[in-house]
Amino acid sequence: MKHLKLNSTIHLFTRILFSLILGIAIWSCEKEEDQITDELLVEQQDNISKEIKNLLNENGFGTSDIISYRKGYIVEGDIFITPENIEEFKKGSNNNSSKHFTTINRVSNFGDIRTLRVHISSGFSAVGKNAIRAALQRYNDLKLVLRFAETSNVNSAEIKFIIGELSEEVFATSKLPSNGNPGSTITYNSSRLREVEKYINVAAHELGHAVGFRHTDALDTSFSCGGDPDPLQGSFASVPGVPIDPVQGSWMLACAPPEGNFLLVDKIALYNIYGIYSGTPGAPLWLRNRSNVGSGYFYTSDYQEVGEGTNDFVAEGIQSRIFDKSRKNDSDKQPLYRYNNPSVRDYFYTTDFNELNGETGGLGYSYEGIAGYLYKDDGPDRVPVIRYNNVSGIHFYTTDPDEIGEGGFGFVLEGTIGYTLPHK
Ligand SMILES: [Zn+2]
Repeated sequence: MKHLKLNSTIHLFTRILFSLILGIAIWSCEKEEDQITDELLVEQQDNISKEIKNLLNENGFGTSDIISYRKGYIVEGDIFITPENIEEFKKGSNNNSSKHFTTINRVSNFGDIRTLRVHISSGFSAVGKNAIRAALQRYNDLKLVLRFAETSNVNSAEIKFIIGELSEEVFATSKLPSNGNPGSTITYNSSRLREVEKYINVAAHELGHAVGFRHTDALDTSFSCGGDPDPLQGSFASVPGVPIDPVQGSWMLACAPPEGNFLLVDKIALYNIYGIYSGTPGAPLWLRNRSNVGSGYFYTSDYQEVGEGTNDFVAEGIQSRIFDKSRKNDSDKQPLYRYNNPSVRDYFYTTDFNELNGETGGLGYSYEGIAGYLYKDDGPDRVPVIRYNNVSGIHFYTTDPDEIGEGGFGFVLEGTIGYTLPHK
């Protein structure tokens, strides 16, 4: 992570410091041997060859602020491209390199769940250790196929949080995954440790890189870092289910906010890369949105319909998973039809196409199409989609039978309209 956007003063401060890198780096090299920590030494900024710049650019990395580091390069402020990565790029094995949220290499999950062991250097303060632990917990709370567990045995750790010398404007850096394993080290800058280690988001951001996520604004980091536009060309692929354009507040922006939790879009990106139901492709997340102008609810599997919220809707989060059209021919599934009544601001969902006269609609509702596909029947690891309504004609849906049970808050139980997958 390059900058913490604490305020514009700090931001400006780091920008000014960047112009001093060269001097600082040389100074670092001249330090006494015993002052150089185990892993790390900022190497003298040299002339980075055009070949390397082109290689990085072709693989979707920003090349305006490259720092030469331990025979590799730090790009976009905090991504450590190792000599091994460079060799992989030369072989052209990373053509799936990506932009928004995406991985150049994912961590393989062997079996249903893979737990990555994480070691935290004793050099971190109690505050710093707790911030890293909170970041691990933040991921674990999502119940992805990828989990993190702290270990006191550094030799068994797959990811090590260490402290080392980095050039002044770099707060922390992480390696990317290779050969199906996570980036092995996340390095915090020793000269800024106390300033940076307290932020959960810094650890969460670097862990994001370690498991393969790229900067959401990699195409132009001025989106979060400010300054002049910094456009990047290259070949990209993106995470399904999330917008191409960066979203303010995301944990993987190049200059990410120091505080705050995962956004909805961040969670969707994580689920879509390391989601728990890896055995059910074609099951996008079903998102629940509450009207902030009426009392209605709106559900969609397309994040881009409402994003983090609109003037009309507050995004309440992930309700469950439903199936997309790739499963429309499955004999055990049925379409879920969507209708909209703008006058009462209500969305109506049904698996009975005759309930509102098919495409004709009725009672003020017009047909909007198929929202997704549900199981017809109950089964293991399935949850019901339960429908309620109230006297104003507003409908409410939940996959949690305990949320309002037989009814409540003016809503009356109408029944189960199908079955789907829980999101965790
Ligand atoms: Zn980063």
